[in-house]
Formats: sequence, C-alpha cells, structure tokens
Amino acid sequence: MINLVDVVKHLETKYPKTLAYEWDNVGLQVGSLNRRASVVLVTLDVTKDVVKEAIALKADLVVTHHPLIFKPVSSVATESPRGWMIDKLIKNDIALYAMHTNYDLADGGMNDRLAKLLGIRDPKLLDETENIGRYGTIDPQSMSSYILKVKNALGIGSARFIGQLDKNVATVGVSGGSGSNHVGQAKRQGCDLYVTGDVTYHTALDCAQMGLSVLDVGHYAEKIFKSAVAEELSEAFPDVKVVVSAIDTDPYVTL
Ligand SMILES: [Zn+2]
Repeated sequence: MINLVDVVKHLETKYPKTLAYEWDNVGLQVGSLNRRASVVLVTLDVTKDVVKEAIALKADLVVTHHPLIFKPVSSVATESPRGWMIDKLIKNDIALYAMHTNYDLADGGMNDRLAKLLGIRDPKLLDETENIGRYGTIDPQSMSSYILKVKNALGIGSARFIGQLDKNVATVGVSGGSGSNHVGQAKRQGCDLYVTGDVTYHTALDCAQMGLSVLDVGHYAEKIFKSAVAEELSEAFPDVKVVVSAIDTDPYVTL
C-alpha cells in the first residue's frame, strides 16, 4: 500500500523544499499526508474547476506548481474563491502539495526541461547568485523561425516579443515563470534571445534599450509541469493512478 507520505518523500528527494526561495510557500498546503495514495492529480494552478476535477476523480492528493496559499490568508470564508477551494479540499479529504521555485531550480526541474524543449545544448546556470535559469547554444538560425519552434515546443498559441525579428539566434537563455529579474544576466551571458514570462512594460523598454531580445511566453508555458511530474510519479508508483489535469487554467485570452 502506497501512502501519500511516500509520494511526497519521492518528490522531495528530487525537488527539496530547501531549494525554494525564502519568499515562496511550498510543501503541504492543505490536508494530511497520512493516508493511502490511490489517485493523484497534477496541475499547474489550483482553480475552482481543478478542485471540482479532483473531487470527481476522488483524488487523495493534488500536486500543484503554483501555490494556492501564497500570501497570508486572513479568512477561509467560503464566499471567497480561495476559501471555497480550501473548504472543498478539506471536506473531500484531498491534500494539496505545492512545488514551486524548488521545482524551477532543481536539476531536472522546470528550467532544465524548458532548456531541453528549447533545444539548448549543455545548459548552464544563467544566474549564479540566484541559482536560477539556464542558457546555452542552439543550432544557429533566424529569430523568426526559432520563435515559431519555441511556440510549438511549448504548445502555446501566442507570445510577446521584444527585439528585432530579422536577427539570428545562437545563444538562448530561459527562466520559466517570472524571470524578468534576470534580463541583465541574460545580456551578460551573451544571449541573443531570453525566453521567460511576466515581462512588464518597463522591463520590456529596458530590454529594447540594451539590445536584448526577449520572448515572453507567459506562466502558462509552465504547463509542461503537469505531464513531467505525472510521468515521474507513474513510473515510481505504478499502482497509483496519476492524472494530468485537463483544466486549462490560463487566465489570459489573446484577442
Ligand atoms: Zn510560474
């Protein structure tokens, strides 16, 4: 019999909680791990639809990338979406576990997987002080054709670009999620293109001024978390039913 504790122990040996940034909130967020693991649902975000999906699947555990509880919660009144979700998880005996920046940073985690999908050879650490991001060389090609490949590899319909499309790319940097703090480092490491998410208008202006091309693929590109973690867990625990959430949690619609 597999216990939820075993499942989480397995994850924590690969993605130790101690790797997470101090501002982050990872680990067990709702419920108890002291129960049998029959069904595990893997998701990028926790939304009401994901909670309903977990209930329908009779899941024992939801593994999420983005934490449901991040800033201090002042109330779990069920009128608020977060309160509703926490209440439903507890009432249905569903534990919730988050792996966020510890997953981003770890060997074989988010940034390594993104680097592989982007065709980066021998990825090196992009930002050594913050221990995050990867960079390396790709087969030299035109910016526009490479961007098309990136969109296909990540399965995203749109992305925002800063820079000049008529250039060539040979060195690429990547940091999944909000990586706009590392644009200076991407420039210093000689990246022709930096792929990340959450680039604000003012950071975009700075990048244009320093001549760094950036592709903002959003946070939803991190949906690769779902199949990657589900695959790992199914391999480690063949008797546990591991499900990739079918809910599209991307809040943005491009019109
Ligand atoms: Zn993210």
